[in-house]
Amino acid sequence: MATAQLDPAALSDLARTFRGELIQPVDATYDEHRKVWNGSIDRHPALIARCAGAEDVIAAVRLARQTALPLAVRGGGHSFPGHSMCDGGVVIDMSSLTGVSVDPETRTARAQAGALLGQLDSATQAHGLAVPAGIVTHTGLAGLTLGGGIGWLMRKFGLTVDQLLSVEMVTAGGEVVRAGEDENAELFWGLRGGGGNFGVVTEFEFRLNPLGPEVLAGPIFWPIEESPRLLRFYRDWIADAPDDLMTIVIHRKAPPLDFIPAELHGKLVVAVVACYAGSIDEGERVLRPLREFGSPVLDLCAPKPYLEHQAMFDPTFPHGRWYYMRACDVAELSDQVIDITVEHAMRIKSPLTAFPIWQMGGAVGRVPDDATAFTSRGAGHTFNLTSVTEGPEGFEEERQWTRDFWSALAPHHMGVYVNFLMEEGEERVREAYGPAKYDRLKALKREYDPENMFRLNQNVPPD
Ligand SMILES: Cc1cc2nc3c(=O)[nH]c(=O)nc-3n(C[C@H](O)[C@H](O)[C@H](O)COP(=O)(O)OP(=O)(O)OC[C@H]3O[C@@H](n4cnc5c(N)ncnc54)[C@H](O)[C@@H]3O)c2cc1C
Repeated sequence: MATAQLDPAALSDLARTFRGELIQPVDATYDEHRKVWNGSIDRHPALIARCAGAEDVIAAVRLARQTALPLAVRGGGHSFPGHSMCDGGVVIDMSSLTGVSVDPETRTARAQAGALLGQLDSATQAHGLAVPAGIVTHTGLAGLTLGGGIGWLMRKFGLTVDQLLSVEMVTAGGEVVRAGEDENAELFWGLRGGGGNFGVVTEFEFRLNPLGPEVLAGPIFWPIEESPRLLRFYRDWIADAPDDLMTIVIHRKAPPLDFIPAELHGKLVVAVVACYAGSIDEGERVLRPLREFGSPVLDLCAPKPYLEHQAMFDPTFPHGRWYYMRACDVAELSDQVIDITVEHAMRIKSPLTAFPIWQMGGAVGRVPDDATAFTSRGAGHTFNLTSVTEGPEGFEEERQWTRDFWSALAPHHMGVYVNFLMEEGEERVREAYGPAKYDRLKALKREYDPENMFRLNQNVPPD
């Protein structure tokens, strides 16, 4: 594919001071560095600027401004629609900046913007501490945090953004700003859910929470035929669940793994994956009714290191497969929602498709909605209708399954988490924030990025 050419003078100007690596289409590592997590994304940027520090970010932002080329910003490369890679433009790639430092005395951590969740978790768990973040260790901390950050610990401690103390960012004008409650408070509000709209974040500062190191966690599986009854039981069982408990329901075809009985391989199953972040004994008591419900075919819920549980989903969502996703929040698992869910789960074709239904609530819902730009605090559950194939074969059919499922749930939609949007247009981004927050984000956008340089994201245009 033809790629746009960078102005050679602008490029050599950048190369004079740039400490990181500048990668162009002619370079041997170009293909490696333009790959993102979602294998269905195949884009060819003119330049990948692998930054080694904030000065590099400033210089790369200036180059993008000067050349007026499209600008993408890459953290962990896990954007479902592939926003962190562009055709013919400049990619500011933060993935070499993975430092995490922990201060156990003040229970705070600083993380550079290229860190992955697994790197943050290992550094904090070394001190028995944790930042609630996502459920796959190879996800980028930056993109996840800027959208909100939901995961196993959110019902106990809140979202990832609820732990943020401050953020350092390079603006579209190439200025470094710090945002926290005490400085640039409005920007700090917008960064907690508003995504990459306002600049390139170089560092996050988080409050830490005591955790583990062991949690009671893992999946319990039932045959798909039990799903209608199980989901109704589950709905009632979680109604008064303690905040220490977080669960995700998964429907999929059982993969051919050693620990799964051979007779289940390839058969549709339903699993409730639990993580109890309090005492193990208490967790055993809370989880007992679920484990005794119906006829589970496999129960892998056991005390284990939190770090081990965090990596559980890594093999389910590896790099390079083709992924498509539509998402929605719902208030509750009503009978209609359950019926739609089971009906569509039965139609899964791909052996790789697995769709999570997240249990929300707890500490997430107790933060006032207008405290941060994140907007799904009132949701009962978040559906990720993810279709997965090894490559292009069968992808279109599986995508249609996702779209049909999403449309069937439409009467029950109550919003969407911005990090689970695909390329769905401005109206959907507006819907994700609601009109009042969307206007507030627009005002911030006018202040920090009036020309919309940072538009390869869930974009909030300035006008
Ligand atoms: C396998 C998988 C598991 C996931 N699990 C969870 C989960 O458990 N919880 C959850 O909340 N979300 C989850 N997500 C969604 C995830 O939060 C988003 O995909 C997020 O964008 C990933 O961040 P990233 O840095 O890896 O992405 P990237 O693709 O690198 O970046 C995505 C966007 O974030 C912005 N961005 C990235 N870095 C910066 C920066 N330094 N400064 C400014 N903007 C930046 C840019 O707009 C960029 O386009 C998951 C996604 C995947 C693919």
